[in-house]
Amino acid sequence: MTDKNAYSLPMKRSWPKSISRGFRKKCPQCGRGSLYKGYLKPNAQCDECSLNLSGHQADDAPPYITMMIVGHLVIPLALAHRQFFDPSLTSQFAIWTPILLLATFWLLPRSKGALIGLQWAHRMHGFADNA
Ligand SMILES: [Zn+2]
Repeated sequence: MTDKNAYSLPMKRSWPKSISRGFRKKCPQCGRGSLYKGYLKPNAQCDECSLNLSGHQADDAPPYITMMIVGHLVIPLALAHRQFFDPSLTSQFAIWTPILLLATFWLLPRSKGALIGLQWAHRMHGFADNA
């Protein structure tokens, strides 16, 4: 590639790499630019490679993914904690509520970024070559 913008039209888009970049909240194309300008609001375009990021359609999938993962990890631990240690309701609430909230808020932008990366890799929605 000798053109000055190596990201203009990549021939092959690696979905594992773009999902990984999105999970790290980076642009799925270059992996350097920030994906978000806020907690969950994607930038209109990448600061590094000028990829138009407005074409994603993550919709409701990131919350579903987040709930599925966090629920399957935290709920069995909470139930095991209850079964083996029989803690009071207050201590269960004090322990598991912050863990649930922190895990959810940590994972939600990452699952959305991974989904945006997957959409970019498969040229879905606004990420098609002719979009
Ligand atoms: Zn970029």
